[in-house]
Amino acid sequence: MTDLQTKIEYVPKIGAVYQKRLKKFGIKTVQDLLFHFPARYDDFSEIITIKHARQRLGEVICIQGRIAEIESKNTFRKRMSVIEAVIEDGTGEVKVIWFNQPYIEKSLKEDDCICLAGKISLFKEGIYLNSPSFEKINDIGENENLTHTGRIVPVYPETRGVTSKWLRYIIKSLLYRFAEQIPESLPPEIIKKYKFLPINEALWQLHFPNSFEAADAAKARFSFEELFLIQLNVLRQKIKMQQKRSYECKMNAELMKKFTDLLPFKLTDSQKKCAYAILKDLEKPVPMSRLLEGDVGSGKTVVAAMAALNTAKNCPPFGGQVAFLAPTEILVKQHFKSISNLLKDFDVSVGLLTGKDARIFRKDEVFEVSKKSFLGDLENGEISIAVGTHSLIQKGITFKALALVIVDEQHRFGVGQRDELIKGQKIIPHLLSMTATPIPRTLALTIYGDLDLCLIDEMPKNRKKIKTVIVEPAQRKEAYKFIEKEVKEGKGIFVICPKIESRASKLQSIKDKGGVVGSVNAVASSDFTVQNYPINTLSSLAVNDVKAVKEEYERLSKEIFPDLRITMLHGKMKAAEKEVIMRDFAKGEIDILVSTSVVEVGVDVPRATVMMIEGAERFGLSQLHQFRGRVGRSEFQSYCFLFTTSPDQLNRRRLKALVESDNGFVLAQKDLEIRGPGSLYGTQQWGIGDMAMQGLSNIFLVEKTRQAAKEILENDPDLKTYPQLKERLRAFQQKIHFE
Ligand code: ADP
Ligand code: MG
Repeated sequence: MTDLQTKIEYVPKIGAVYQKRLKKFGIKTVQDLLFHFPARYDDFSEIITIKHARQRLGEVICIQGRIAEIESKNTFRKRMSVIEAVIEDGTGEVKVIWFNQPYIEKSLKEDDCICLAGKISLFKEGIYLNSPSFEKINDIGENENLTHTGRIVPVYPETRGVTSKWLRYIIKSLLYRFAEQIPESLPPEIIKKYKFLPINEALWQLHFPNSFEAADAAKARFSFEELFLIQLNVLRQKIKMQQKRSYECKMNAELMKKFTDLLPFKLTDSQKKCAYAILKDLEKPVPMSRLLEGDVGSGKTVVAAMAALNTAKNCPPFGGQVAFLAPTEILVKQHFKSISNLLKDFDVSVGLLTGKDARIFRKDEVFEVSKKSFLGDLENGEISIAVGTHSLIQKGITFKALALVIVDEQHRFGVGQRDELIKGQKIIPHLLSMTATPIPRTLALTIYGDLDLCLIDEMPKNRKKIKTVIVEPAQRKEAYKFIEKEVKEGKGIFVICPKIESRASKLQSIKDKGGVVGSVNAVASSDFTVQNYPINTLSSLAVNDVKAVKEEYERLSKEIFPDLRITMLHGKMKAAEKEVIMRDFAKGEIDILVSTSVVEVGVDVPRATVMMIEGAERFGLSQLHQFRGRVGRSEFQSYCFLFTTSPDQLNRRRLKALVESDNGFVLAQKDLEIRGPGSLYGTQQWGIGDMAMQGLSNIFLVEKTRQAAKEILENDPDLKTYPQLKERLRAFQQKIHFE
């Protein structure tokens, strides 16, 4: 055992079984153990005399005393081991009972002094402690060096098979051994400026705080540090990008005017502002890195089309090429269609490439081509704008002059995509990433901090507000009647069901997360009271707590709406199959589309006016908002029905927020407040530690860390004078890379 990188295999007292368990939580080294932080603390810091304990019945207290008696019993009937002891401290005595901890018999004997913490209760004429925490001490009155009692005691995150007691014991010995050796990773000027605890002291206080204030001070330090590392990382990325060269695509104002004049509508002010910012970026010799954020239906595609057109026509010497990436084939085809349509009067060739299909739109006509000839046309520059999935950036695909990459709905993905694309290229393409997922400011400034943001924060004027309603079980029938009426008028209906998941696996996953299984039973048994619907429907609802797509499809098509045309759509279907269905739905050949969340992004079906969401409480607000954005794309009044059976008030509050607000940013912020930063898009993939997560709710902290990172990098972009920081950053990047 020599340094922080020592593997846990070499740490004394960690046997093979524990090594395995620890590795499950990603703990591999001494350092990992020291940085495994408590989730909360128990306050056992006040040690009282046994005499006083009598006045504290029902409270958790801490006492010290000598073991006057101890014996082990077996209650055969219950097959349980019981250890009973009597402790006295000169002021009185207390009885102690431990159930099912037979090993205690070996570690404690009469006359030992111990410190105990637990709930004090009345027992016949005396008082007793039931299964208290305890540790041996040398003498009554000793309160130095306590670990499990007589102090503020750390409680570690729920980890199966590894108790907090065990972790305290191991971590404390490692702190004694290593705390002094831990190199300070924060620059001294930052420690000084913010009066942070030095790292070794902070580690001690985080695990074994002297006071809650000290624990908070330690937390503040690590929260800052984690966010600071993220900021350094993205800002360095940004600086690196600014040293690269890109195509300078001059803005052709006349061309842009012609484009907007030909549109059947006027651009909103936000669209104009964003388009202008993007076109200005494209003129610069350094690569653009922009995130275009706008609610579903706010009209991002038109803005992207302007950027694409200008790039195709005005990047020297022959016009630049554009790669337009979308996550699914459905979206790729939709974008191909809308881009071709928007640019049909401008003599640009638009290509489509998916796993199987290759098409080219040129002079008002679409040609099917072989993949080979498509690739040839990319290479010789015949195709100006190529729309595709990942297949567009596979190895072996060469562009003649790739000047702009547009990425739709892939969040963080965009930057990585560009890295793929630029391998071996001298000139780096500009990047425009688009998302309908509103990102709260703290998150935007952190994990998207290397991107410049522009927002489309208004909807086209012709839109009617979507009416959102929480439908109580008793109103279900009424909702169905309404749907029938809409269908008669030729409207399309979406029905979204939560994931296909059996009840058994659901229970298991809840247990795995340390949750309470009882609550699931409550949800299941309180399922819809569907009066007036056939009896077998009721039984199927009771068995499954999740309304799986297939069942819902069967139910709707056979029992509820036997006369309507209903189809289902889910992620396990082939892309071609899904596409046919979406097309039929858009054309009006399907009345009701029952689907999993696969329709979440981008799909445009103007005739759809009702979005029905089953088990709405199971989705995040941002996601529900996305679903809702699938309707309301025409001049007709649209509706969003949220079905829920959850009596949980928190869920109710969330769904109410959706009824009250149609602003994606407000909803994302609510998600952040109600469900915490972990519920937001992007964070999971980003390996953000718990401390940074907590920090993400605090805009001041985020801004401070960003400022600090900027200042450091301004003076020393390569972190030459901060070797420790550089090392931490390297480790951090590696972690993101692997996650
Ligand atoms: P999203 O931002 O969700 O990608 P789209 O770009 O698909 O939105 O636009 C949604 C619909 O709104 C499209 O049919 C588009 O033609 C239309 N649209 C875009 N901008 C405007 C506008 N300024 N006025 C009216 N309709 C618009
Ligand atoms: Mg879109």
